[in-house]
Order: sequence, then C-alpha cells, then structure tokens
Amino acid sequence: MRLENPYLQSASLFDLTGKVAIVTGSNTGLGAGMATALAAAGCDIVGANRSDPAQTAARVEAAGRRFVDVRADLSSLEPIGSIVEAAMDTFGRVDILVNNAGIIRRCDALEFSEADWDAVIDVNLKGVFFLSQAVARQFVQQGGRGKIINVASMLSFQGGIRVPSYTASKSGVLGLTRLLANEWAGRGINVNAIAPGYMETDNTAQLREDRQRSEEILARIPAGRWGVPDDLAGAVVFLASAASDYVHGHTLAVDGGWLAR
Ligand code: NAD
Repeated sequence: MRLENPYLQSASLFDLTGKVAIVTGSNTGLGAGMATALAAAGCDIVGANRSDPAQTAARVEAAGRRFVDVRADLSSLEPIGSIVEAAMDTFGRVDILVNNAGIIRRCDALEFSEADWDAVIDVNLKGVFFLSQAVARQFVQQGGRGKIINVASMLSFQGGIRVPSYTASKSGVLGLTRLLANEWAGRGINVNAIAPGYMETDNTAQLREDRQRSEEILARIPAGRWGVPDDLAGAVVFLASAASDYVHGHTLAVDGGWLAR
C-alpha cells in the first residue's frame, strides 16, 4: 500500500523537531510537564509565566532545546502582543500554542464574589480566546498551519461543587475549542483541548488536604491513583504533532477513567 502522508513514510508522525511552542503557565504543574514533553519531542519553548520558570527552563535545555522566558500576567490582555513577539524575535515563527495557565476559586455559590468570578473568567476564558486569536493571526501570516491546545477539565463535562466561575470557564473552554475549530480547521489550524482528570498540582492542593473529599475522589478513579503532570505527555505531543492533523474541535480526557464511571 502506498502511503500518501510523508510523515507516515518517515515514521516521524510525532516528531516536533524545529517546531516552536508557546506554553502559558509553564513554571509549575501541568504546564511544566507539557513544556518538558514538547521539548523532548523536539520543540523549542516560549514560556509565558507570572514568575520564574527556572526549573522548566532547565528541563527544556536538558532535552537540548531552547527556552525563552516571557514574563506575562494573563489576568489582562496587555502581555499578549509581547508573547507572540518574543517567539517571532527569537525563532521567527510559532507553530503550537498551549493555553495552560489557569486559576480556581472555591466558595459556596451563595457567597461567591464578583471578584472571584471575574478573576477566573479573565485568565481561564478571556485570555485563552485572545491569545488564541493573536497566535492564529500569526499562523495565517505564516501560511495557515498550526496547533492550538486548550486545557479544559472534568468540569467541562460535569458541574462540580463550590467552583462556579471555574466550571463556567472550563465549560466555556470546551465550547470555544469547538467554535475555533469550526472557523479555523479549513485553514489547516487544529484547535483541540486536553481535559485532565484529578491531578496532583497546586490547583488541587486544597482539595487533597480535605481528607474526606480526597478519598471520595480517589475511590472514583478507575486507575486507582491521582494523575501527575507526566501523564499529559502523550496527549500534548499527539495534539501538537502531524499525528492529529485530522483531529479538530476534540476535547481529550486524560483522567484515569474518571468520566467512564
Ligand atoms: P498550577 O496552579 O500548578 O498551574 C497553574 C499555572 O497557571 C501556573 O503556572 C500559574 O503561574 C499560571 N497562571 C495562573 N494565573 C496566571 C496569570 N494571571 N498569568 C500567567 N500565568 C498564570 O495548577 P495546574 O493543575 O498545573 O493547572 C494548569 C491548568 O490545568 C489550569 O488551566 C487548570 O485549570 C487545569 N486543570 C488542572 C487540573 C488538576 O487536577 N490539577 C485538572 C483539570 C484542569
């Protein structure tokens, strides 16, 4: 059988050598794990972070790739231009965007404040849209190919409890992923999302400290353990690579089977 796709012939379906990825919130947790996985597959990384990403930079460089440090507070749209500019100034192109930065605020819905609503929506949803728009404009200028990977959640599918703005934002991320895929798939831009399950990071520290909630959650995970940042490596490399060229608007759960229950 003759294979039309050159990537299949060269067995480099998942190879990202020479690609440039912007990863937001790459200094800790899942973002650090995904930046490291992309670097191991061949990507140079532009990390957009509020604080020092030294550990991630060291891991990316240990994989033989470059790490560019852009300080950016994504609670406003102001740094978006400088993130794309940093990629262009250093590498002259951008191929992949991972919209990972995100926050959560926990409080009963009856008491939930406007400040906690706005803070979460601004970073988790508004920032994701406008950074995607800026990077997609760059993709179009480069000839129209590119990969955008959003970070959704189990609360893109379920309601959750005591996290109203987070649930609204992550349900919004799932819808936005579909909308952007509808508009941009025809240009060769893939927009997809990863929905992590319950992962051991700062985001879930409060939840894991609550012994009863923590045990209830663990009992529902078929894999029998909480996830760790390295568990996202395969999904992010897949969605960033030629292996997913015909995958558009999909939200891929990496959840130890949580949603199957
Ligand atoms: P984390 O708190 O370790 O990471 C969050 C990252 O976002 C950090 O790098 C932080 O600096 C960055 N960030 C937050 N606000 C920012 C801002 N204003 N400007 C720039 N960067 C900002 O937690 P994590 O679990 O690694 O979270 C990463 C993503 O994964 C988030 O979108 C989160 O909602 C999502 N997520 C996490 C879980 C989980 O169980 N941990 C599950 C589903 C989805």
